Amino acid sequence: MDNSATPLGNIRQKMAHACKISGREADSVTLIAISKTHDADRIRPLLEEGQRVFGENRVQEAQAKWPALCEDYPDTELHLVGQLQSNKADDAVELFDCIHSLDRMSLVKALGKAMDKADRRVPCFVQVNIGEEEQKGGCAIDELPALLSAAQDAGIPIAGLMCVPPLEIEAAPFFALLDKLARDHGLEGRSMGMSGDFETAIMLGATHIRVGSALFGAREA
Ligand SMILES: *Cc1c(COP(=O)(O)O)cnc(C)c1O
Repeated sequence: MDNSATPLGNIRQKMAHACKISGREADSVTLIAISKTHDADRIRPLLEEGQRVFGENRVQEAQAKWPALCEDYPDTELHLVGQLQSNKADDAVELFDCIHSLDRMSLVKALGKAMDKADRRVPCFVQVNIGEEEQKGGCAIDELPALLSAAQDAGIPIAGLMCVPPLEIEAAPFFALLDKLARDHGLEGRSMGMSGDFETAIMLGATHIRVGSALFGAREA
């Protein structure tokens, strides 16, 4: 299975190396294959190679692609990594096994309700706007404590914290900050690191890395 000739084998090897040099167990990091924009025929080879954790950023796109794939590979785990509109909370709770983009009070309310209604508890990462960027999703760092406590009150299982650092500058300080925030709040999960920086993220404590283009090639716009 560990064939480094494939992109998946190559990434697994790099993950193992990053774990080793940072003194972490190899199984302490989950690779989420981000399959957004790619059709089922591009996804199946990865399933055949043994990958079972996938991420999408749009509810509708995932609804169109994944039910059939999940029927063939029932142990697949599906993660939502994109911004979620409150009016899609029911659909998201039905389809996904984990949500990485809980970032505001209105969504806490919507997801709490959706989980009650479906009687299904979907673990959520709280997305933090770690670079305090104007246009970016994620809650402000100083709003994090209130959001976490509201999520807890709403019965939403909190998996940890997630971030997408600012583009085109060194990501390491932002990963270190997310790690610290997670530690301060006693949270286990850190969803951080993408194709270009997942090894750095692992060395700084990532438990979930989200890798798209390094697995599937560049996405069309
Ligand atoms: C697309 C996406 C990724 C994957 O990015 P790559 O650079 O292609 O690895 C990771 N996280 C989120 C939130 C994304 O939207």
